[in-house]
Amino acid sequence: MVSSSAWPYPDETREMEQIQADVIVLGGGIAGCMAAIAAAKQGCRVAVVEKAGAVRSGAGGSGCDHWEQCASNPCSSVSPEEMLQAMMDDNDGYNNPISHYIEAREGWDRLLDIEKMGGKIRDTEGEFQGAVFRDEKTGLLFAYDYKNRTTLRIWGTTFKPAMVAEMRRLGVRLIEHVTATALLTEGGRPGGRCIGAAGISGRSGKFYVFSGRSVILATSRPARIWLFSAAYPGLAEFRPLSCIGSGHAMGWRAGAEFTLMEKSVRGEFSAAGRSFPPYAAGNNHNTWYPASLVDNRGVEIPYADRDGNLLPDVMHRFQPAAGQKFFMKGGNIEQAKYAYDGPETLPYQKLQEQGYQLPFYADLSNLPPQERKVIWGMMIGQEGKTRIPVLKDLTDRGFDPEKHVLQCYGVGWKSGDFLPQERQLFGLVGGFMNDWHLMSNIPGLFVAGDALFSSNCYGHAATTGSYAGRHAAAYARSVPEILPERSQVEKERLRVLAPLARDLENGYTWKELNHAVSKAMQNFCGEVKEDGLLLAGLEVLQGYENEIVPRTAAANPHELVRLLEVYDILTVSQIILHSCLARRNDCPKLEFYRSDSLGEAPEPLIAIRQEEGQIHTRQIPLDFAGDVKENYEKYNTDYRQEVSP
Ligand SMILES: Cc1cc2nc3c(=O)[nH]c(=O)nc-3n(C[C@H](O)[C@H](O)[C@H](O)COP(=O)(O)OP(=O)(O)OC[C@H]3O[C@@H](n4cnc5c(N)ncnc54)[C@H](O)[C@@H]3O)c2cc1C
Repeated sequence: MVSSSAWPYPDETREMEQIQADVIVLGGGIAGCMAAIAAAKQGCRVAVVEKAGAVRSGAGGSGCDHWEQCASNPCSSVSPEEMLQAMMDDNDGYNNPISHYIEAREGWDRLLDIEKMGGKIRDTEGEFQGAVFRDEKTGLLFAYDYKNRTTLRIWGTTFKPAMVAEMRRLGVRLIEHVTATALLTEGGRPGGRCIGAAGISGRSGKFYVFSGRSVILATSRPARIWLFSAAYPGLAEFRPLSCIGSGHAMGWRAGAEFTLMEKSVRGEFSAAGRSFPPYAAGNNHNTWYPASLVDNRGVEIPYADRDGNLLPDVMHRFQPAAGQKFFMKGGNIEQAKYAYDGPETLPYQKLQEQGYQLPFYADLSNLPPQERKVIWGMMIGQEGKTRIPVLKDLTDRGFDPEKHVLQCYGVGWKSGDFLPQERQLFGLVGGFMNDWHLMSNIPGLFVAGDALFSSNCYGHAATTGSYAGRHAAAYARSVPEILPERSQVEKERLRVLAPLARDLENGYTWKELNHAVSKAMQNFCGEVKEDGLLLAGLEVLQGYENEIVPRTAAANPHELVRLLEVYDILTVSQIILHSCLARRNDCPKLEFYRSDSLGEAPEPLIAIRQEEGQIHTRQIPLDFAGDVKENYEKYNTDYRQEVSP
């Protein structure tokens, strides 16, 4: 390691620590914590490998203001089956029926678990007594559709500390500031049973070997593929900097199967440092729903229902349209059929034709007081990144939601205009393919949360985490322990430590490599795909792998982890290019277009994996999960759902 007098941690780059458990969890975010808790409750020895500090790590670590698709809560008038059907319809079937059914069915159970751990899920102090969105019997607060009550407003900042305390109470071993870099497989063979992982400390450079009977991967999703800003790395993506898709890269190298990785959207939210921190500018999306939007003269821009009918007043924003059983709002934002058309969905040209004048503002002043208070007082204080930079900072500067308005920038809530080739993995993106155990095609490798295909949201992460924990524990009980293959461990150790020994003066940095990969992806994998372009893109990335990667260097373990992340971004980009090559026809729902489309009906799901560099694909019908209720019950005979409020 290049010595630096300022580096505050000991140099342990020559050391190796081995840790054994029954279940190894990679990623201590929402899914990882809930997986570890569930597996520990089944009597397993559990170790969690977390890249950052678990108490606030991941997308949900700093908070969360609403919990969606909770059809199983006692006030809901939507069944889990209806909820899943709506989510499938919304996406023309290109969605994960297994994981979202688990979300709809087990959400309430997980909220009760989190409450027992010390998280706050109800208005225990009666702060919102009498509000239309409060259920007086349970003290639960609801958002969006007040009639059907499937989305809860929650105090998400209290959840992660409660989960970490629960893990400690259950004796889960938490290994923090260590990044998992590779999956270890039986005999060191790709596609063989997953028996552990390798990792490295981002502080001391110590190398770790984790071995277990089963492994749960909960490292979230890829980012910074097309869009990166070296000047504003922290604002380069919606999700946190630590979530970069390394789990996907590890899985790909080990032979795991992925689907929908060809799906991307035009850059829209908190990307490339070009937009504001999430929910920091005026909008009426998620946290800010149902804020009014007004123009420069203070004239309100109306809301419309699903059928385009303008709503007469604020309270109609919480009711389904005539003939509509319920509507969804929140994470399900892509061409949603069940949502309201808020002013943010109207094209600017249309608003201009109607005489509205820029700039536009979010205006809470005309909302009923409880509605204003629940947005400005509670939700903005609980949401992922808004507690300090928005609620605290603006309040300190005198912002008063009864009097002041917050300016909107760019296109509605998206706050930033992007070119067609500036793409992003946002919304329900591709990821690991899973079966009814939430196991991947690699025996012993379970997946949870945002790493799964078509995943999104806190409730989905908590429920799939817990479910994967139960199933990985059962699997661990059924298989013998196998120790990692020495040669596989040694190969990985040499790979990850190599950049510390390279020439820093003449080496490339992680930021330069990230820029190069992103530029290549914009050039070769933009909005319109074509075989020639995609193949050229693969050649360019292969060139980077052969010529640039061996010349990258890192000064210390922190920079090393940043660099390993960008190697993984390069691998994920290759998965995306291969996935695009495999889809031969346009599929508007996936925002996938080809100039050389075969002109046939869009393919269903296409699963893709590599084995010794050879790409293997197979088509999977959209309804591959079968009857979800029947299958869920078949695979979860021991699991009893809580019913009491
Ligand atoms: C600003 C913001 C606001 C949001 N608001 C809401 C909301 O109000 N409601 C809602 O439902 N959803 C919301 N979401 C989404 C929700 O937070 C995520 O869907 C959820 O946290 C996903 O859980 P996860 O466990 O899969 O990933 P995360 O919670 O992100 O956890 C992944 C963990 O893996 C760790 N990790 C990554 N790579 C490695 C590695 N190689 N080795 C070891 N550890 C690794 C990370 O450090 C992290 O702790 C929001 C997201 C953001 C960013």
